[in-house]
Amino acid sequence: MALRYYYNSETCKYEPSVVSPSKFVKKVFNFIGISLFIGICGLGYYNYMYPLVDEVNLRKENKKLKAEWQVIHSELKKTSDHLAEIEKNDDSNYRVILSMDPLSASQREAGVGGHEKASAEIDIPLIGSAMDFASKIESRLNVETQSMSELKDQWAENQKQWSARPAIQPISNKELIHLYLAFGERFLPQDGYSRQHNGLDFVAPYGSPIYATGDGVVSYASGGTTYGNVVFVNHGYSFETRYAHMSKFIVTVGQLVKRGQVLGYVGNTGHSFGNHLHYEVRYQNNFVNPINFFQRDLNNKEYEKLISHAIDSPISLD
Ligand SMILES: [Zn+2]
Repeated sequence: MALRYYYNSETCKYEPSVVSPSKFVKKVFNFIGISLFIGICGLGYYNYMYPLVDEVNLRKENKKLKAEWQVIHSELKKTSDHLAEIEKNDDSNYRVILSMDPLSASQREAGVGGHEKASAEIDIPLIGSAMDFASKIESRLNVETQSMSELKDQWAENQKQWSARPAIQPISNKELIHLYLAFGERFLPQDGYSRQHNGLDFVAPYGSPIYATGDGVVSYASGGTTYGNVVFVNHGYSFETRYAHMSKFIVTVGQLVKRGQVLGYVGNTGHSFGNHLHYEVRYQNNFVNPINFFQRDLNNKEYEKLISHAIDSPISLD
């Protein structure tokens, strides 16, 4: 190795320059480091400026994939918006009509985020966010599906309840001669005293059909001295109807009957003065005025005809 000299101002002589081993090693490493840095930068610049064919294709593919994911995102957004419309209709219309409470925000969000862990494991932002979006939509759909199922059940229950409720006249207007509006305490001329009259009296020709006023089960069908031939129908939901003084009944205890089904025929049996149907409605074991259970279901013409036959009567026929 060639010696190097330096001028020593203290001794006023040229003296040999001695480099320590550690300084020598440090200089070598510095040289290698700088060379590597320059080499890597040069290689990167070269690759960028002159990419390989595969890399060009990969870049194109990547650009295309990004565009496709944007389309998926856009479609997911549309799905989410449609779902929001259905949720709004559910809460504002369907549930209101069926007297059900709208779902709370916490119920709507139940389960949202259940797939967060799975999507968090995907560290590609576009795919990860699309997965999150899709997971949230799926959770909302599950809640909405459950809600629709509840609506369907409630609708079926309401239908059943409305079918069971006494809601029509037990005697058709075609046969009706007079309707004695005689609910409450009434005078009975034949007996010469007043007593509680718990129903309405429909005067109609002997043998006119008597109809069940709602769906139910025949709970009693028998003959007696007071009601005569009588049928009781249990409608459920605390409703019962009674049809008295029939000439005959054609149903049996335990039989299911539908609204409008013939139970028997008008007669004059039991404690009765003239062919008529004595009709009672009981709700929660109390007698209620039957007029409130068919009047609203008549159209204008039917109602006018009913009124023309109705007599606000101080007396009753039984
Ligand atoms: Zn009566």
